[in-house]
Amino acid sequence: MDHCAECGFTYDPAEAPAAGRAIRDGVVEVAAVLRRGAVDDLRTRRRPEVWSPLEYACHLRDVLLVQRERVLAARRTERPVFEPMGRDERVDHEGYAEQDPDDVLRQLGDAAGMFGNVLARLGAGDWERHLVYPYPGPTPRTLAWMAVHTVHEVVHHLRDIRLQVEPAAG
Ligand SMILES: [Zn+2]
Repeated sequence: MDHCAECGFTYDPAEAPAAGRAIRDGVVEVAAVLRRGAVDDLRTRRRPEVWSPLEYACHLRDVLLVQRERVLAARRTERPVFEPMGRDERVDHEGYAEQDPDDVLRQLGDAAGMFGNVLARLGAGDWERHLVYPYPGPTPRTLAWMAVHTVHEVVHHLRDIRLQVEPAAG
């Protein structure tokens, strides 16, 4: 998993220190795209099995909050093992489709800032701290990898959202 054929993202651990900035910039773009959509449209699934733009935005917010907790845990414990975040269950358990898009965009911006803050506080040696990441299967990873992987989440879902809200731009 070092290149994503769908969105073209390539994993480069050297980019880890720039991840916080890349994530904040990506989230600003997500918000700009979502603001161009009508509320009803943001809530609408184009296909029953594909999340709506609003559901993708909720997912991205939760990814950033979960990743933030994982970074903090990996700093204070040796090689923590993480459960999957429950991406599909959260859609119903949190009622993604019923959330207010303005709230979600504000929360998304805050989540990016909060995640960026914990990344900015990592010292040079901390990027090599290990954790066992649950996706796609339990795998030992460094914090540097996880930071870059989170940039990929943002880039990938920005594309998912953009393809729905602005199909012509895809
Ligand atoms: Zn991708």
